[in-house]
Order: sequence, then structure tokens, then C-alpha cells
Amino acid sequence: MTPDTLAPAASDVCGRELADSGGHQVAVIGAGIVGAMVALALQRDGHQVILVEPGEPGGEQAASFGNGAWLSPASVVPMSTPGLWKKLPGYLSDADGPLVIRWPALPGLLPWLLRFLWAGHSVARVEATARALSALLKDAPQRHLHHAAQAGVADLVVQRGLLYLYPDRAAFQAEALSWRLRRDNGVQWAELEGPALRELLPDVDPRYGLGIRVVAGAHCLDPGAYVAALVRQAVAEGARVVRARATGFVFEGTRLAAVRTDQGEVACGRAVIAAGIASAALARPLGDRIPLASERGYHVVLANAPVRLSLPVMPSDGKMAMTPTRGGLRVAGQVELAAVSAAPDWRRAELLARFARRMFPALNSGTAAGIDADAASPSSRWLGHRPSTPDGLPVIGPSPAHPDVLHAFGHGHVGLAAAPATAELVADLLAGRRPAIDPRPYRANRF
Ligand SMILES: Cc1cc2nc3c(=O)[nH]c(=O)nc-3n(C[C@H](O)[C@H](O)[C@H](O)COP(=O)(O)OP(=O)(O)OC[C@H]3O[C@@H](n4cnc5c(N)ncnc54)[C@H](O)[C@@H]3O)c2cc1C
Repeated sequence: MTPDTLAPAASDVCGRELADSGGHQVAVIGAGIVGAMVALALQRDGHQVILVEPGEPGGEQAASFGNGAWLSPASVVPMSTPGLWKKLPGYLSDADGPLVIRWPALPGLLPWLLRFLWAGHSVARVEATARALSALLKDAPQRHLHHAAQAGVADLVVQRGLLYLYPDRAAFQAEALSWRLRRDNGVQWAELEGPALRELLPDVDPRYGLGIRVVAGAHCLDPGAYVAALVRQAVAEGARVVRARATGFVFEGTRLAAVRTDQGEVACGRAVIAAGIASAALARPLGDRIPLASERGYHVVLANAPVRLSLPVMPSDGKMAMTPTRGGLRVAGQVELAAVSAAPDWRRAELLARFARRMFPALNSGTAAGIDADAASPSSRWLGHRPSTPDGLPVIGPSPAHPDVLHAFGHGHVGLAAAPATAELVADLLAGRRPAIDPRPYRANRF
């Protein structure tokens, strides 16, 4: 994709509504997975879409580039669950844990953190969150298989299940609430022990004795390339890409007239904010104060890892995704609560690599086993920003005071998987149709 073919000057984009087709000129702000899916859905719904994105669609700047690549109907369990508050002091003091809070960020994050803890204070509340997540996730594998095929990249989405690994049954039962929430939301799984587990995962450390395979789960082999392909497809269907950073909105009376960008104004009758972690700043002048924090996460890729892994796994003691991707074994995880602008702490990426070496003993065999010593060292590392609300649910739907602008952000840990359903909901709301998914849990004014 070359910028020249896709990027008319912002001022060239005309803003009349498409009266003959009944559609609108819609500016979609941000071309991560959510913006890409929204652009496709709206273009197919008869609108003229202009994607406003300063970077390469699917590029490293986006959370959509470097995530764990899980397309999971089972990701319905929010981060905040009853009793989490008791663990908070540990998170502040254990620099090697899966969740760390950087001290300098603590004062600014306190209001978000208190809401985060409150969101998980009761089982009933967590059940409601799981139901709302499930509405966006339950068909995620099928939706992605369909979209990947339509975009000509069917090979990028594979459905072989997703595997949670436990040392033993007691460790599995310690997560009984999570699995009950999954079961209540229609997630099915198969248990694997002994030889069956070894056959599926011949290279995993034998300390893991139980595998729980989410049968319908799928994964993406290259999320960045997938987003780029979806944007190419949207362009092939008539959308345009403007290489610009949105900075605000222009209203004529109460009606939206344009999105303001650093390259000029993009005239439009409707706009969708899908700018990931940058979204809250765009929503604020509209009167929407959305508490959005970056749950920073890291990945490392081991390009030549000598491990046989046919499906993604998540070890219960590491809480990280180990995913076979086109680039190699991707190990993604960690939650680091810190300012968006704070420098990466690459020790967190090293923790991921170290865990992978514990998990796959072959990575430690060195040249004695005929293995390239570099195989155990990451070939790349990455930091990204999960755009997270404290209640674990995205914000989807019209801005209450300026309904010509719709929100589609705040997907936290599940944005890759939930993007197609989000796009369908946005398209229904923008068209004024009765939405197939109940939009109420995601409304902007719930905070
Ligand atoms: C380590 C890690 C692991 C994860 N694992 C998974 C997983 O396995 N499965 C899953 O479903 N999710 C996972 N996630 C979460 C998922 O990656 C995110 O929820 C999702 O990518 C968010 O997509 P988005 O389109 O909202 O934002 P982004 O992908 O961040 O895209 C936002 C885009 O907006 C653009 N932008 C920013 N500001 C502006 C502006 N002012 N004007 C115009 N454009 C702008 C940016 O350049 C960017 O391209 C993970 C995240 C991380 C960090």
C-alpha cells in the first residue's frame, strides 16, 4: 500500500452526504483493528468512508500490531475480580510479577484504579461484565475467518483451538470462577492429560499436567498484516485513507461538519473515534470524560525457536500468550500500569523470554543439542498500549451530546477478537437500525 494511492490531501475530500445512496460521508479515526473493521462494515453499508490515520495501517504504533493474536470466545473474564484488591500491594512491590504499577504513575492512576477495583467487587458485577464481553466475542473466530477470506488473507486466521495449561487439577480448580463464567457464556472445552497432552505439546515442560482446550478458539498468524489487508480491502471497496492525525471536530450548529486534522479538515457528516489509547483525548472536547488507561504490554518473538507448537497456549503460572505466528514464537503479555509516554522497561520483555525458556526446555539445550544458540534469544521485542477502561468493557455508540460522532474504543485485552462485532454494532447504530447486540453495556455515559 503506498501513501500516494491512498492518501488524497485532507482538504480534497468533499463532505456532502451521499443523498442518493442514503449513506453518509464517515470519517473513521484510527486504522487499528477496530478502525479497519468499522471502515469495512460502514463502506459495505453504503457509506463513503475516509480512514484518518497518521501511521501505517497495522503498523507497530498500534496495539493491533503486537498483541497475543488470540481470537478467543473465552476471553470473557475481566481483569478485575473479587479479592483482587488484596493482591495490589504485591503488584506494587514485585517487579517480576505479571502486573506491575510504576510508582510515578500511581497518583494519576488512582481514580482509574479505584474504579477498576470496584468493577470487580462482586460476583454479580463480574457476571454482567462477562455477559457483555461474550456478546462481542462469542462468534469472534467465525467472524474473523470470514473477514480474512474476504480480504484475500484466509491463511492468516487459523482455528485449531486455544490451550490453557495448568500444573495440575488443583491449579485449574483455583480458577473455578473464570471457568464458570466461560461455561455460563457458552464456551466449550476439552480436557487433556497425560499422553494426549504430550502428543499435542511434545516440547512443553512436563511440569504441566493438565490442558484445557477451548475448542472453538482461533488465532491470527500476523495481526499487523491482517489489519493492513483489511484496510486494503476497504480501499478496494471504495474507502479512502488520509494520512493525518485527527485533532478535533468542527460542528455547524449541532451537526458535525468535519474532523480537524494536522493536515487540514476532513469534511464528513459522521465520525467514529477508533484511535485506541488516543481516543479519550478526542472524546473529551465532546463532553465525554472516559477513564482510559494504558495497560502497557510487551511481546518478544523467538524467530527460530526449536519448539513444535500447533496452537497457542497460556500457562496458568505465567499468564502470557505463547502463539505460533508467521514470524516465529510470539510471547505476549504483562500488564504495566504507567504513563503512555514513559520509556519502555525492556526487563519486562526479558521476563517473557525467560518464561518461554522455562516453558520449553529445548530453548535451553544450546548447541549441544544441535540448536542455534540464537534460537533462545528474541529476534524482536515490542511495547504496546491496551486501551483499557476500568470496568473492562469498551465504549461503543454515539457521543451523548454530539451523536454524529460515535465511539469505538477501550477494548483493553480483547480488541483484536472483538473488533468485527464492534464494527457491526457501530454500523447498526449509525444506520439507526435495531442493533443485533444490545448496546447499553458499552454506552459512554456509564462512568
Ligand atoms: C501485549 C498485548 C497482548 C494482547 N493480546 C490480545 C489478544 O491475544 N487478543 C485480543 O483480542 N486482544 C489482545 N490485545 C488487545 C488488542 O491488541 C487491543 O485491544 C486492540 O489492538 C485495540 O485496537 P484499536 O484499533 O482500538 O487500537 P490500536 O490498534 O492501537 O489502533 C489505533 C490506531 O489509531 C491511530 N491513531 C492514534 N491517534 C490518532 C489520531 N489522533 N488520529 C488518527 N489516528 C490516530 C494509531 O496510529 C493506531 O493505528 C493485546 C494487547 C497487548 C498490548
